[in-house]
Amino acid sequence: MSPNELLAWAEFFTVATKEHPSPWKGWNFSERFPQMPFVYRRAAIKDAIGKARSYLSHHSNWEKSGKTRGKPGLPGAANHPTLYEGTIELDLSRNGKEHARFVRLKVYTGATWQWCNYPIKNNRYFQGRLDDLAWEKHSPKLVLGKTAAELHFVQTREISAKKIVESKLDPDLVTVAVDLNVKFLAVITVKQRDRVLESCFVSDQGLDQACYKHLKRIASKQWQSGKPAKDEHSNQQLWRHIRRMNDNAAHRVARSIANVCARYPGCVLVFERLRKIRPKGGSKSRRMNRKQANQLRGKINQRAREKAYALGVVTAETNPHGTSQYCSRCGAKGERFSYQDGKRTTVKWGKLFGCPVCHYQTQADWNASLNLHHSFFGKYHWQPRLKRSG
Ligand SMILES: [Zn+2]
Repeated sequence: MSPNELLAWAEFFTVATKEHPSPWKGWNFSERFPQMPFVYRRAAIKDAIGKARSYLSHHSNWEKSGKTRGKPGLPGAANHPTLYEGTIELDLSRNGKEHARFVRLKVYTGATWQWCNYPIKNNRYFQGRLDDLAWEKHSPKLVLGKTAAELHFVQTREISAKKIVESKLDPDLVTVAVDLNVKFLAVITVKQRDRVLESCFVSDQGLDQACYKHLKRIASKQWQSGKPAKDEHSNQQLWRHIRRMNDNAAHRVARSIANVCARYPGCVLVFERLRKIRPKGGSKSRRMNRKQANQLRGKINQRAREKAYALGVVTAETNPHGTSQYCSRCGAKGERFSYQDGKRTTVKWGKLFGCPVCHYQTQADWNASLNLHHSFFGKYHWQPRLKRSG
């Protein structure tokens, strides 16, 4: 039976109509929920059918698998209702304002169903996609959280993107490489053939310092109380604050990466594969900060990928080996250094990069970002090459 036939069958037995004035006893929808809009009723029935089906198939799979544990439980009612047309009206006339302000929902007051206005917040990207015909809209879901109610709209769009293997054959391919760091969150370089078309440094705007400061506070609190006071109220707030700062930064950086990609249609976005780093050494606050920074990189990577893909730009990952140690000009092994008191000193995390072969000196993160292009095309394999005119 098709879902629609099932729906018709279920309605036949549960809804009183002129032709069938008496549905099953105890199953009378019209009696139990008077004046419920039929769209809500259908949504509820459809939902129940979906749940029953999924339970049945899970259960039969489980029986076939012969396992004794993991018996699927009976479905519950903890789902978020989907609001189909007829139960929601989004007032998108902005009346000269930047965002839509209200949503009208048909709600049950305990006695009757009526339309109510709820103020909403949304952002301009969401608004932009609503106006864009290329984005297909789906019915929203109502998600009730602890402190807020949210409407989740699914927006989809067909995206055509070339396979990376095909793109690689194009000699005029533009590659956008992103090196993720701590101080400059992202160093973006755009390259075509052997020309660097554009470079862009996205700074963290003091995020790392701020995070470190907050984490230091948390760590010292935990130390004072002698145990990780996880559920302590102020700590929770601090963590939430840190998480929000990170989220914001990730969105901001991903947006600037996507903006660069948008200027070069058909380009390929190149990231280095994120290393799994287990922070060790240093104080507790320092270790926690490292961990945070790594999570932040993961978030930026993820967001940038999604945003770029919406533009039809595919993402490639390269082997992270050696990108910061080799010269982006000649491929020889170089060293990182920085100037301290006007003297050049070699340090592992120096800001500058110097090549002993071609005497090229540059900003270290920029050098690493340029190396990603070589890595993507498989040009160097990072065995120190001694000579290559450059
Ligand atoms: Zn060199």
